[in-house]
Order: sequence, then C-alpha cells, then structure tokens
Amino acid sequence: MLADNVFKKIIDKQIPARLVHEDEQCLAFHDIGPKAPVHVLIIPRKEIRTHDDLQPEDAALVGHMHLIAVKLARDLGLHDGYRLVINCKERGGQTVPHLHMHLLGGRDLTWPPG
Ligand code: AMP
Repeated sequence: MLADNVFKKIIDKQIPARLVHEDEQCLAFHDIGPKAPVHVLIIPRKEIRTHDDLQPEDAALVGHMHLIAVKLARDLGLHDGYRLVINCKERGGQTVPHLHMHLLGGRDLTWPPG
C-alpha cells in the first residue's frame, strides 16, 4: 500500500533531506535507505502521484528530470554507468505516492531486478 507523501514534506521543508540539487521544477536528495553506494531520488515539485498519472503537458518536466539525472551522475562520479528506476504503483514496488526517479550507481547492478 502507498504510504503518506513524505516527499511533499521534503518539498515544503517540513522534514530535512540531504539535498544534492534544487531548482524551480525538481529536487534531488540522497535516499534514506540506500541500495547502492550512490542512491539519489529526483522528484518533481509538481504533485504527480505515480508515473501512470503523467500527462502530455508533463513531457518537458520529465525531460528535465532526466537531464538532472545525467548531471548528477557526472557530479557523483558515476562515469562507468548507473541505473534509473521509476517504480509505479503497488506491483511496481512504489511505496511513496509522489513520482520519483531513483539514480543508482557505484557498484555492479544486476539484471533482471526482483
Ligand atoms: P519507492 O519504493 O520507489 O516508492 O521508493 C521510495 C524511496 O524513498 C525508498 O527507497 C525509501 O528509502 C526512500 N525514502 C523514504 N522516506 C525518505 C526520506 N524521508 N528521505 C529520503 N528517502 C526516503
């Protein structure tokens, strides 16, 4: 089941996060339970519950999030590669009901995921 939107509280500065990027469209911060040496979450300020809720007008926002991922991967030293993950809804493993992109790297990542 999807939990409370803790990411909205991070956007509103009600709870702290280890920010690595912030602009008018999105935030990025270290995951509180890292699954790899580098594990950053990139989230839009706009409240979008799941990937399945994206609309045509969100195309530029999604593109921006990808370009921030490229910048952060470089800044965080992931020159040999990394993985971007978006879990969608319960069966996709999503636990926080606010769209977020995981940027994972710093170790060999196996395939397929569980
Ligand atoms: P997902 O399972 O795709 O919804 O990912 C949610 C992610 O949010 C998990 O990897 C959690 O470890 C992470 N998370 C939950 N609460 C926080 C928080 N307060 N600060 C940073 N990351 C969090």
